[in-house]
Amino acid sequence: MKVLLTGGSGFIATYCLQYLLERGHTVVTTVRSNLKGGQIVERFDEITRKNLSYVVVEDITVHGAFDQAVQSTPPFDTVLHTASPFRFDVADVERDLLDPAVIGTTNILKAIKAYAPEVRRLVLTSSFASMINPKQHPAIYDEAAWNPVTWEEALSDPVTAYRGSKTFAEHAAWKFVEMEKPNFSISTINPPSVFGPVPKHLASQDRINTSSARILDMMQGKMKDHLEPTGAFLWVDVRDVALAHVKAAELPRTAGMRLFVTAGHFSNADIAKVIQEEFPEYCDRLPSTITSDLPSDVYGFENLSTNQALDMRYRPLQECIIDTVKSLQAIAL
Ligand code: NDP
Repeated sequence: MKVLLTGGSGFIATYCLQYLLERGHTVVTTVRSNLKGGQIVERFDEITRKNLSYVVVEDITVHGAFDQAVQSTPPFDTVLHTASPFRFDVADVERDLLDPAVIGTTNILKAIKAYAPEVRRLVLTSSFASMINPKQHPAIYDEAAWNPVTWEEALSDPVTAYRGSKTFAEHAAWKFVEMEKPNFSISTINPPSVFGPVPKHLASQDRINTSSARILDMMQGKMKDHLEPTGAFLWVDVRDVALAHVKAAELPRTAGMRLFVTAGHFSNADIAKVIQEEFPEYCDRLPSTITSDLPSDVYGFENLSTNQALDMRYRPLQECIIDTVKSLQAIAL
């Protein structure tokens, strides 16, 4: 396949890129600057680089942002759209979270339809955020679950805004396909909290991707007095999420599917306990008594059709956290 991967500098996209190249695909990735593009290409050996290049898309919210990027010779047959803001330290939730997610997604959809008619599949990185109903959890979350958040509610705080951003972006994508009937089909990947080894080039004390931050915070003693509330109680390893993206792109049977990739339940206490047991040097930075906030009646999940379609196997939490901590030890703590 020839694949356009948006947001190649991201945590999940880093692994998508690695697996795409390992599986013999040719990839052009979008990044926000030549500096970032050059750094990505440099990570690969000369032979692999023959199948990799980048284009600069500085801001996915600009009108026509992807119109040039989707055009290539030979043409792309697949697009993976991962670029979207996932951070809570924003000044204006509409400008910094909601608009980039929704406009960015609409921009890629329109660009493919107008300028890349050979594309047959768009894999969109959505989220469990677009499924969760925090005010009234269902007993079981499955691929049909939708977050009922409204735009007004989404303006209330950064977490609700982020969840809204993923919900409205995904809605926009399904609606586009229904109304515009383009040449391509879409699959969405809907992961909950994503953990896993943070690639060295992404790890810095100042800026680390949002989902990895809680593990770094624990290692740095920022949760010594008490563990922060867990949030959503489902998780998945970044390597499994990335492989799901690549398989979704490769497998025709995933067309039109929401793919709910999750390894299961977790709480911050589970993460802290793995760190405590496997890395005793961090014990004095963790609470002396580790208490779980996982409710006994926590919602369940059902994702058999996802797992069958993608033939998924998930890494266990223990392995994921050990690998994550080791990767974070590469940063001065
Ligand atoms: P990262 O922050 O590591 O990656 C986000 C990517 O989007 C980066 O490449 C970033 O570029 C790019 N980006 C953000 N805003 C813009 C913009 N306005 N213009 C151009 N590029 C932009 O996060 P993740 O890898 O964790 O997230 C990737 C996707 O996965 C997102 O869609 C997120 O919602 C989704 N997701 C993540 C989960 C998680 O737990 N990590 C869980 C579920 C879904 P740059 O680095 O240059 O800023």
